[in-house]
Amino acid sequence: MEEFSDYPTLDQLRNAEQRNKERINLSNLGIPCANCSTEIRGRFAADPRGNLLCWECAVTSDAEKEAGIRVNTDPTQATISESHLYEKSLCDYVVNVATGCRHGCKFCYVPTTPGYEGRAEMLSEQADVDELQEEWGSYLLYRDDLPERLHEELQQTTREDLRDTERGQGVVMLSSGTDPYQDRRAGQITRGVIHELLFRDIPVRVLTRSSIVVKDVDLFKDAGDLITVGSSIPSFNEELVGALEPGAPPPLTRWEALDMLQLEGVPVYVSMSPTYPTMDEHGLHRLLTRFMALRAQVVFHEPINPRGENFGLMITALEEAGLEEQADEFRKLKDVEEWVKYALKQLNWVQQKAEDLGAPPIHSWPDRELVRATSGKLRDQLAAMRQSPSPEQFEETDDPTHSEAHRPLFEDYEQIDHLVEPDVIR
Ligand code: SF4
Ligand SMILES: [Zn+2]
Repeated sequence: MEEFSDYPTLDQLRNAEQRNKERINLSNLGIPCANCSTEIRGRFAADPRGNLLCWECAVTSDAEKEAGIRVNTDPTQATISESHLYEKSLCDYVVNVATGCRHGCKFCYVPTTPGYEGRAEMLSEQADVDELQEEWGSYLLYRDDLPERLHEELQQTTREDLRDTERGQGVVMLSSGTDPYQDRRAGQITRGVIHELLFRDIPVRVLTRSSIVVKDVDLFKDAGDLITVGSSIPSFNEELVGALEPGAPPPLTRWEALDMLQLEGVPVYVSMSPTYPTMDEHGLHRLLTRFMALRAQVVFHEPINPRGENFGLMITALEEAGLEEQADEFRKLKDVEEWVKYALKQLNWVQQKAEDLGAPPIHSWPDRELVRATSGKLRDQLAAMRQSPSPEQFEETDDPTHSEAHRPLFEDYEQIDHLVEPDVIR
């Protein structure tokens, strides 16, 4: 244990962990609370300056502004939760290191999920949140002691004890409801959590838009095939991405972070989601060419889904950024027939381009409603895409082979026109 002052900051302690490549259990060191001087035994958190607080002081503190958003402590008990994201071949479990997200993506589904409504009272108390969806991106509640709590929870757990579905492969994903590397403090929680999971041979998927993920390259390299690190890159058009993902780093920065990791031998993947209606065949071709250079294990692809309040927020964000023409293209998707055509064409183009280029395998995510709006062979193939596992393997195996379900849907649209029935979902 290194020498610290009587009141070490959370940042100093987490830094020491990284330097020494070992976890320090901060729940039982007896560090005094910076506010009331009680010895910390059990739950704890930090204030925005990094001062360590006992749980009592942490949960009764008011939110403070930091870098333009309101931050505070997340009082949740949650650690690791089962997830339905096996349906997308992403994981069987998720760990979220915070509530809220600095990136504030306009299409983010998190504040619209049914469970999120149940947090309204807590968010109001901890971060003065009135409107969950509209204020998304303006608050962040950290779970500083999550690595310590996960350590306790997993004491008696091995990989065999966890759910392991064919599509989820027993993987734990960080994170589904926030960006695990959105800032230094979140990244420190994430590192501790990944450390705890890998220690028990539990496979991990990291999904982030932030380049500070590269600071953990040492941890990822030691994990071999038990980890994969990916980023969402829907387009390299900085203006568009900047309007729709206002707090996130530019797409090229994300690509560079993944490139750095793959050069170090870390398995990487890309989530090309959601691809915009402004993107044509050539745009998708250029995007895939760049992903080829990453030697990604898989590229997940999903067109935009225009349902829900957040689609309106996307259009407003484009208008506010002065991108009127692009806003019009998005607006057209409110017509079901337009959306079905756009989604089928983009899914097909991406599979076709990947086949022509010899690009990494594409794992398409066709929307459930899109399957309902089609018939015959087209419907069967879309349904098979939804059921198929991703080609990733989280252990030493021969080269993965990709499922036959993921291949082009048609040669040209006229061939399948009669199999499209948008009226079914109108
Ligand atoms: S980075 Fe992810 S969690 Fe954060 S706002 Fe964007 S989509 Fe939502
Ligand atoms: Zn205290």
